[in-house]
Amino acid sequence: AIVLGIETSCDETGVGVVRMRADGHVELLADEVASSVDEHARFGGVVPEVASRAHLEAMVPTVQRAMTVANVKESDVDAVAVTAGPGLAGALLVGVAAAKAYATAWGVPLYGVNHLSAHVAVDTLEHGPLPGPALALLVSGGHSSLLEVDDLAGPVTQLGATIDDAAGEAFDKIARVLGLPFPGGPYIDRAAREGDPEAIAFPRGLTGPRDPAYDFSFAGLKTAVARWVENEERVGRSIPVADVAASFQEAVADVLTAKTVRAARDKGVDQLVIGGGVAANSRLRSMAEQRCADAGIHLRVPRPKLCTDNGAMVAALGSHLLAANVPESSLDIPANPGLFVSEIVMP
Ligand code: ATP
Ligand code: MG
Ligand code: FE
Repeated sequence: AIVLGIETSCDETGVGVVRMRADGHVELLADEVASSVDEHARFGGVVPEVASRAHLEAMVPTVQRAMTVANVKESDVDAVAVTAGPGLAGALLVGVAAAKAYATAWGVPLYGVNHLSAHVAVDTLEHGPLPGPALALLVSGGHSSLLEVDDLAGPVTQLGATIDDAAGEAFDKIARVLGLPFPGGPYIDRAAREGDPEAIAFPRGLTGPRDPAYDFSFAGLKTAVARWVENEERVGRSIPVADVAASFQEAVADVLTAKTVRAARDKGVDQLVIGGGVAANSRLRSMAEQRCADAGIHLRVPRPKLCTDNGAMVAALGSHLLAANVPESSLDIPANPGLFVSEIVMP
C-alpha cells in the first residue's frame, strides 16, 4: 500500500510518500521538505502567521514534487495521512485542509495523526518493524517525553515528560545566549565539537533521589548557563563558546540517557527508540549508543534528516494505521494544536 503524508505543524512543509510491503516493512519513496526557517530567523523564533502563509504557498508544489520523486500517480495512493496536532493552529489548518481535499479527490481514507507518534514511527523506515514493547524518548522543539509503546498503531503511555522547557527549546535558548543563529540545536552541536564537555559542571535537573524518576527539567540548566555566561561577561572575560556548548550539551545528553536507561530497566524493556529534532544531536546519539550497549538495550535512532520535521514520518505512521485496519478519520476533523501524545489518530 502507498501512503502520502503531509506535515505542516511548525515551519516545515513536509510531504512524504511510503510503500508498505506485504512483509510489514515500510519503504521510503519520497521525503520533500520546504522550510520557511529563513523567514523566521531574524525574529529568533517561528512567527505563526508567516509559517501559515509559507505552507499555503508551498503545499501543492511540494505534494507534486514528492509524487514525482516517488514516481507514483494519484491513482496509486491508498491513503493520505496528515499531522492533525500538536503544533501551531494556523499552520496545522493548511495541511489538514489540503489532506482532506486530496483524500476526497482521490477517494482514499484520511488519517489525521499525532505529530509526536509520527516522530517515533519514522524509525521503521530505517530499522524495520518495531518489536514491542519498546520505550520511546521523544525530544523535540516543543516536547520531551518518555513513552511506553507496544505497537505503533496502538496505545501509548507517557511515563514522564518535561515539567518546564523542552530539550530543543533549551538548545535554542542557549544558542541565543551564545550568539548563535536560530534554530540553535545544530549550531550548538557543531560548536561543541571543538569544546571540552567537562569544562563547566552544569546542573543535571531532576536527578536527585527524591525527584520524579521519569520527568525532565531543563529550565534550571538554561538559567545556570545564562548566568555563567553573564558572569564571565561582567568580569570582562571572552566567552569560550565551544566549551559552554559542549558542557551544556553534555548535561542534556547525560540526563536524557541516564533517565531513559533507568526507565527501560525498571520496565524490563530492551528496545529503545529516540525521535524528534534533538535526536539528531551527535552527543545524545553517541552517549545513548554507549549506555544502551552497556545496559543490553537495543537502540534505534533514525538518521538525522528523519529526526527533524518531515512528511515521511507522517506517511510512515499512516501506513501502520492502514495496515492495522484502524478506522479512518472523519472528514470534519479539526486541527488540534494541543493534541495529547496518547491520541495517535483523530476519530
Ligand atoms: P514538536 O515536535 O515538539 O512539535 P518541532 O516539530 O518544532 O516540535 P522538531 O522539528 O521535532 O521540533 O525539532 C526541532 C528542534 O530540534 C529544535 O529545537 C532544534 O534546535 C532541535 N535540533 C535540531 N537538530 C539538533 C541537533 N543536532 N542538536 C540538538 N538539537 C537539535
Ligand atoms: Mg523546524
Ligand atoms: Fe516535530
